[in-house]
Amino acid sequence: MKNLPDGITVRRCGKTYVIVKNMKEEIGGIVVRGTSTGDTQLEPYVNEPQHKNKKLVALVMQQMTEALIINEAKKPEHLRRDALPPVNIPKGTEVFETKIFPCSKCNKIIAALVFAWESGSPEEMEIIATKFELEASIATYPMWILGAPNCNDDEIAKHLTLQISENKKGKVYWEHPNDMNQRLVELDEKHC
Ligand SMILES: [Zn+2]
Repeated sequence: MKNLPDGITVRRCGKTYVIVKNMKEEIGGIVVRGTSTGDTQLEPYVNEPQHKNKKLVALVMQQMTEALIINEAKKPEHLRRDALPPVNIPKGTEVFETKIFPCSKCNKIIAALVFAWESGSPEEMEIIATKFELEASIATYPMWILGAPNCNDDEIAKHLTLQISENKKGKVYWEHPNDMNQRLVELDEKHC
C-alpha cells in the first residue's frame, strides 16, 4: 500500500488488516469478508480514542477499496450498471451490501450504493447514514443509501434514497432504481 502517512503500517492477520502506528499502537483495522452475492466487503473498526484514529482508518480503508475495485473492475460483470437489489440477504441481519461503480474507462470509483432494503422511514435512513459516516467523510465520489420500496411492484416501486457523500445535507427522497441507473450512466460518461 502506498501513500500511507509516516509511522503507519498495515499488517495482515488472516482476514484482518491491522493498522499500526509507530510499530506498536494498534489504531484499528479492516476486516475483509465475502458477501452472499460473491462480492468482497471491507468492514473497518476504530480503536479508542475514536476521534484521533478515525481519519487514519478511513484513509487506509479508501486505499484498500480503490485497490480492490481496480482489481475487480477487470472482470466484465462488475462493469454493468445496476441499482437493483442484491439477492439472498438473510432477513433481519444487519448486513448492508455495498455496490461500488468503477469508471468504464479509467476504473476509478465514480459512485457507491449502500442497500438497506429494510429501512422504511426517513429516520431509519438517517440512522444507516450515521453507520456509513466514516466512508462518506472520505469518499471522493457520491454515495447513496437505497431503502425500502413504496410497493411490491418492481416496475413502478420507488425506493427511499439518501445521498450521503459529496452532498452531505441531502434529504431522504423517493426514487425509482431506473433513475439511479440513469444517473450512474451519466456519471460514467462524464468522468473522464
Ligand atoms: Zn474515468
